Amino acid sequence: MEHHVIIIGSGPAGFTAAIYAARANLAPILFEGLQPGGQLTTTTEVENFPGFPDGIGGPDLMDLLRRQSERFGTRIVAEEVSAVEIAPRRHAVEAAGQWHRAPALIVATGATARYLGIPGEDDLKGRGVSACATCDGFFFRDRSVFVVGGGDTAMEEAGYLAGICRTVTVIHRRREFRASPIMVEKARSRGNVRLELEQVPVRLVATDSGTFRAVVVRHVSTGEERTLEGDGFFVAVGHTPQTSLFQGKLELDPGGYIVTRPGTTRTSVEGVFAAGDVQDRTYRQAVTAAGTGCMAALEAQRYLESL
Ligand code: NDP
Repeated sequence: MEHHVIIIGSGPAGFTAAIYAARANLAPILFEGLQPGGQLTTTTEVENFPGFPDGIGGPDLMDLLRRQSERFGTRIVAEEVSAVEIAPRRHAVEAAGQWHRAPALIVATGATARYLGIPGEDDLKGRGVSACATCDGFFFRDRSVFVVGGGDTAMEEAGYLAGICRTVTVIHRRREFRASPIMVEKARSRGNVRLELEQVPVRLVATDSGTFRAVVVRHVSTGEERTLEGDGFFVAVGHTPQTSLFQGKLELDPGGYIVTRPGTTRTSVEGVFAAGDVQDRTYRQAVTAAGTGCMAALEAQRYLESL
């Protein structure tokens, strides 16, 4: 099938690109992927998206963006893209066995949660180990859980879990936090949040029935190892850009993020634009993703006009 513009991804970047492209009469087709709505659907309250003075739920915000993009004629396809061909003026995307082609392609595939890669972790995923507190916190009501990380995600998850669980222990490898002070204070102010600083998780221990039982942590300077027992283990150590489809096809940086020309969403290949977290290792905010989604659509429109 032939289109003007194909958008891959359904986070704030993808939907904003769709709103702009649809309003430019480009009849965009948008592939939602495995996690419709993207990372915001795994968050609770979003308090920093402009226009919502009282905050808005992550899934609610995504639903609004989705409806806004549909209102102007975006075709949303609930499929994951399985292959792409990057060929100037004729980029192609395969989903559910069907190829779609367009001269303009907007990549807004986002990023996914990283894990630690320590012994025991893989086996215990879904059995006490999780990377999404809002998805799985409910299972640990009145239990004791760990959150690993010192960024905003770790603080937000710790605060959220504190409202559900008996105790929340944040394990962080430094004394200083990467998270913004207000987020650290919010988490710390909860009476049931404890901190284990300068500690690195080295392995996870399972119960006889194969669920999470404990984490062994090592102090970064003394090397002392301790076993901390608990019921759940939440990993919040950042994200990896979703670019496996584009390896060898678009220029990626050493971290796997798509390289865009400064001040634009243009990638190394003509007609391919990248927006949102897939090309942003610095800001990674919903509003910056939306902003670059807008840029990608405007640049795609200009590119199509130039052909
Ligand atoms: P970050 O990259 O900001 O933080 C990751 C944290 O994990 C760091 O503290 C890092 O430690 C730690 N870490 C990384 N790898 C390991 C490892 N192997 N072992 C132990 N610890 C590790 O990611 P976030 O997901 O927290 O945040 C991403 C972006 O999203 C940020 O820009 C953030 O501000 C934003 N955000 C905003 C929110 C809000 O405002 N409501 C909510 C959530 C995220 P170290 O510090 O030592 O490097």
